[in-house]
Amino acid sequence: MRIAILREISPGESRVALLPDAVRALVSKGIEVMVEGGSGIAAGSADEDYARAGATVTSDRNLLMASADVIPVVNCPDSSDLGLLKPGAVIIGFLRPLDDPAPLQPAIERGATLFAVELVPRITRAQAMDALSSMATVAGYKAAILAAAHLPRMFPLLMTAAGTVPPAHVLVLGAGVAGLQAIATARRLGAVVLGYDIRAAAGEQVRSLGAKFLEVDLGGIETEDKGGYAKELTEEALARGRELIAKTARTSDVVITTAQVPGRRAPRLMDRAAIEGMRLGSVIVDLAAPAGGNCELTQPGEEVHHNGVTIIGPVNLPATVPVHASQLYSKNISNFLQLLVRDGALNIDMNDEIIRDSCVAHKGEIVNKRVAEALHARA
Ligand code: NAD
Repeated sequence: MRIAILREISPGESRVALLPDAVRALVSKGIEVMVEGGSGIAAGSADEDYARAGATVTSDRNLLMASADVIPVVNCPDSSDLGLLKPGAVIIGFLRPLDDPAPLQPAIERGATLFAVELVPRITRAQAMDALSSMATVAGYKAAILAAAHLPRMFPLLMTAAGTVPPAHVLVLGAGVAGLQAIATARRLGAVVLGYDIRAAAGEQVRSLGAKFLEVDLGGIETEDKGGYAKELTEEALARGRELIAKTARTSDVVITTAQVPGRRAPRLMDRAAIEGMRLGSVIVDLAAPAGGNCELTQPGEEVHHNGVTIIGPVNLPATVPVHASQLYSKNISNFLQLLVRDGALNIDMNDEIIRDSCVAHKGEIVNKRVAEALHARA
């Protein structure tokens, strides 16, 4: 069985799917690993490191595409790559099966089996494969750092001979994995932090990090689905939250927004008026930018300046921390591969919940109903 590691070619991407440590473990199990030259450089691993771990390094990307049985990726390869795929090959990665499934079509037509890490169920057994959480952790950390770097003030309270510097006030909207990491990082930098979420469980988690939780009365409506994810709110419920957020934003120096509802457009939590109500020099970091943004004025991938407020809409913060993002992702992928490989050969057990739920297509057949609908809707 041959596993191929590709150089990621999406603009701005610097992560790699597997690092040399993971390669060494695979090779020790009798699996052949080939690596496209330069794949790990931005993530701190040179070609020689992969070679020392037992991989064959090549510059022939087409050979890798045409001969690999399994291709772990960060992002889906493009259609010219997928057109070369060995029939029946397996691809694992951030395949964006629900929001942008069309690029997967050439792979499906070549009989590929596709696993989307976004669909790995959030069950205890799958925690070590949860790439969404790994990348959200990195993004939340970096969002707080980015905000601190852009703010014309300091985060901590400082008492100096030249006077007292008050601490920055940071409001974090959405207290899932990314939001909690943003809260923890802003706290470590010394800011006074407030967190907000519509899930009841989030309150305790926010408080356990030493931040205050902003309570909103949503009239007792159900805010969570069976999987523990937030539900899409009605416009009326959203408006109640927006009012409280706008009021709190007026006294905040930084707002970090992370609110998402899986498979939906990100909820709009701050409108233009709320942004205009913020103080001069305030900073908003909108982590929901790729899903449409939590703020009305967010532009994905851009830094917008409006009435003295800076609004940053990052689209791939994990790629700005490629060493640790790759370290976590590589571990997630290695753990997933352990489920797929037995005695050095592929063994795809569709009765396994993790494999079944994360599988988008098996041997060229779309097996995920939501993906089939999404592809059909876009056809
Ligand atoms: P996510 O990225 O889908 O959303 C981020 C946050 O936005 C969530 O906390 C969500 O409640 C919040 N949100 C959505 N709509 C909102 C609104 N209108 N206003 C304010 N906040 C809003 O979430 P995630 O970080 O991937 O985590 C989702 C859930 O899964 C959480 O309960 C988390 O604790 C849980 N989780 C469980 C595991 C596990 O292995 N058991 C792993 C990771 C996450």
